[in-house]
Amino acid sequence: MSTGKDGIDQQAIKDTLLEQRATLLDRVRRLDKDVHHREEPLPADFAEQAVELENQEVLEALDEDARQELRQIDRALQRIEDGAYGECANCGDDIALQRLHALPWATLCIDCASQAERRSP
Ligand SMILES: [Zn+2]
Repeated sequence: MSTGKDGIDQQAIKDTLLEQRATLLDRVRRLDKDVHHREEPLPADFAEQAVELENQEVLEALDEDARQELRQIDRALQRIEDGAYGECANCGDDIALQRLHALPWATLCIDCASQAERRSP
């Protein structure tokens, strides 16, 4: 398998996804190190403490973003394995090629994606 039904080069997409996955895994590992493996106690000064905790929240948000993206990439890889890549996971329509080029891990067509966004702002 190299070329899908609509001229999508699935092998190239798979390579892109695996590459992106490795980058994200690396990021998550580094963030986890920053978030969870802090040895030093919080600073005694309250203002410093606040800054420290804010940084912590930012790191955790970044970590969550990366993890969410990883899950999307895993889903897209799974769909390649299933031979369902390029089909919307919700309505089954073909996802526009343009969209897949811009967002190789998209598993929803543009209509379903914007509906999902509207549901959870
Ligand atoms: Zn759809």
